[in-house]
Amino acid sequence: MTVLYWLRNDLRLHDNEALTALPADTTALLPVYCFDPVALGPDAYLGLPRTGPHRLAFLLETLADLQQRYAALGSGIHFAVGRPEEVLPTLARQLGAQAIHASTEHTTEEEEAEEALTGALGPQIPLRRFETLTLLHPADLPIPLSRLPFSFSKFRFDVFSKMTVRPPLPAPQQLPPLPVGFAPAPLPTAAELAAQLGQPAQSRPTPDRRSALPALGGGETAGLARLHDYAVERHLIGRYDDTRNQMLGEAFSTKFSPWLANGSLSARQIWAAIDGYDATHGARSKGAMQLRLELLWRDYFRLLAQRAGPDFFRWRGLRDQRPKPTRPDRAVFEDWAAGRTGNAFVDANMRELEATGFMSNRGRQNVASYLIHDLHQDWRWGAAWFEHQLIDYDAASNWGNWKYIAGTGTDVRDTAFDVAQQARRYDPQGRYTRTWSK
Ligand SMILES: Cc1cc2nc3c(=O)[nH]c(=O)nc-3n(C[C@H](O)[C@H](O)[C@H](O)COP(=O)(O)OP(=O)(O)OC[C@H]3O[C@@H](n4cnc5c(N)ncnc54)[C@H](O)[C@@H]3O)c2cc1C
Repeated sequence: MTVLYWLRNDLRLHDNEALTALPADTTALLPVYCFDPVALGPDAYLGLPRTGPHRLAFLLETLADLQQRYAALGSGIHFAVGRPEEVLPTLARQLGAQAIHASTEHTTEEEEAEEALTGALGPQIPLRRFETLTLLHPADLPIPLSRLPFSFSKFRFDVFSKMTVRPPLPAPQQLPPLPVGFAPAPLPTAAELAAQLGQPAQSRPTPDRRSALPALGGGETAGLARLHDYAVERHLIGRYDDTRNQMLGEAFSTKFSPWLANGSLSARQIWAAIDGYDATHGARSKGAMQLRLELLWRDYFRLLAQRAGPDFFRWRGLRDQRPKPTRPDRAVFEDWAAGRTGNAFVDANMRELEATGFMSNRGRQNVASYLIHDLHQDWRWGAAWFEHQLIDYDAASNWGNWKYIAGTGTDVRDTAFDVAQQARRYDPQGRYTRTWSK
């Protein structure tokens, strides 16, 4: 049988059930990546490309790497520009495909894309969905999703404590060939893509030597190399708890997030590496425990997004809290976005984001709090700016964290940060602020 594989945020060979679950009688496989005009087009709040230059460059590197890895296993990738529900059914019918494999997502828009595709395929061609994006397999949840606690601690102690993380699946050694006679369309350049989408081309960012990101680029090869380097070569897991709130350099935190976000690194593969670290060091280190907790936060936001549906993205809170009143002012917002607020710590972080597509977790919390609680702007503008800028943008983690800081998440406490005090505590000598002062 012929199978189509819709590549989404699962751009890897390792730990990928969408590949390992191919039926034994698969004689041809066509992996397809759709450059979706919606994901690449303007957002609803700022009118900016939702995928800005940093993430776009990282995505193209990721796809180039994946193409090589597929080729090495006897396969390839077909690249298309268009909505999946239009591109895939046409291809499936043209090739007589009997099924489409895909990784299922957990946020509203992405779920709607799956529904639209299912509708367009009709009953003859099933869309087979696999859970490849989370640490915890949603099928292992001991409670129905509708009873997911609105508290991370409760989730951790009452739900996660009853679960185990499945081991990562090995990468396939071989893939079925492409359908006979099918010539896959090549990976476009950023300029070709912009032309096909009818959008202005975004120039490729120039590398900044101050960047906190390891200079590895996108793709599974680089993601696995970072994991090996961080966990095995340099044993940095052991120091993670002491360094994770720092802001300068590539070693203070894992920097796994860009690879996790587009699925070129699997959360379960990271979990297994932490297990390996603990096993070789003969104890459960604080660093390992803290890193596991952060990965659990990532899952929690995904589950929350799935449970809340469209409410996850709305202005009001998950407990129907009203955000503090705003004084919407585009000029104030634009000064924040450009790093021109006059608060040196906030401005330094915003300049780092603009230059590299990355900002530390400490920085993200502070600039978000400053926009919402000091400048009184709509938190959704900030979330949309991050969506445009972040190299590691992930719908659930981004909107979930913004919602939390706006006081519209699961928490009803005041979530404002004292930014001046945070700067004194986390940048006591002003090294970070000076590094990004221009
Ligand atoms: C306003 C705001 C927006 C954010 N937007 C995103 C986003 O779009 N994408 C994203 O991946 N993270 C986001 N985060 C979470 C966090 O800042 C980043 O995951 C982290 O800074 C990435 O760097 P790292 O990989 O070195 O993290 P590490 O500290 O090494 O953590 C390891 C992994 O744990 C997960 N993680 C850590 N902290 C969080 C968190 N607070 N929420 C969810 N997962 C977490 C990430 O997958 C991360 O890669 C946001 C945080 C804030 C406050």
